[in-house]
Amino acid sequence: MFYCFYTKSTVKLNWILNTFYQYYNGMKPQIDPHGSQPANGMVSKTTKGILNVLLAAILSATLFTALPATGIGLNSSPFQSKNGSGEGANATTPQISLHVGLVVGHWGHGDDVGAVCSESLGGFKEVDINYTIADLTRQYLEAEGVQVDMLMEFDSHLDGYISNALISIHADTCEYIPELGTGFKIAEAADNKRPEQAARLMACLKNRYGEATGLRYDHRITDDMTSYHAFGEIDPNTPAVIIETGYMNQDRELLTQNPALVARGITAGIMCFLNREVISQE
Ligand SMILES: [Zn+2]
Repeated sequence: MFYCFYTKSTVKLNWILNTFYQYYNGMKPQIDPHGSQPANGMVSKTTKGILNVLLAAILSATLFTALPATGIGLNSSPFQSKNGSGEGANATTPQISLHVGLVVGHWGHGDDVGAVCSESLGGFKEVDINYTIADLTRQYLEAEGVQVDMLMEFDSHLDGYISNALISIHADTCEYIPELGTGFKIAEAADNKRPEQAARLMACLKNRYGEATGLRYDHRITDDMTSYHAFGEIDPNTPAVIIETGYMNQDRELLTQNPALVARGITAGIMCFLNREVISQE
């Protein structure tokens, strides 16, 4: 459709210009019969030059307004994986169905909403922060072609749960802890039947999450994390980790105002694991 329009416009404009040239050159001797030829030639050339510039401008305008809006690099994925496993790779390799479970910390567990901030600190509830981050992570993973299960804290699906990875998303206390009340923590399922897989999931998440958010890694892992209930419920072949995405007091701005960045960090960590990406040594 565009090409027909373009060709017709070109033919029409050329016809108008040629007619004008002929008319202009034909009339010139009659208007000024005694004028010198070089002067007439110069006037004619200048006029043709101006008309050519005008023609180029009109054609450029036509060309740009007629171009389709798609296909000019506007369809980029919200998440760019680091090892080029995007569209190009998918086009040549068969699709392998990847499957990840996200536990939304404290979701669907009655009055348990996790950590809570005082009204003066915004009244945030951990479960809401966890849900927002998990739902964005789900969207980013699905955009990468990964199948995602959103699971409640004590979801019945956790019993014998099988997938490529399970990540439980939590946030740390809203209490003010001088100096040490900032950073993220990750613990892996210790008695996993494939410890190298769980260790790799943790290493990927630790590296990519730290890179994306700029948060420091907090080594003070609690027993609540290492003995996390879901670790004992899922299939022991499913690599699993629990992440405390940050402290709701000092890291509150990141968690509540930039959950997309937090989710991108988690997504990057999961994709690093699924794609077996190289992790830079710290
Ligand atoms: Zn929690």
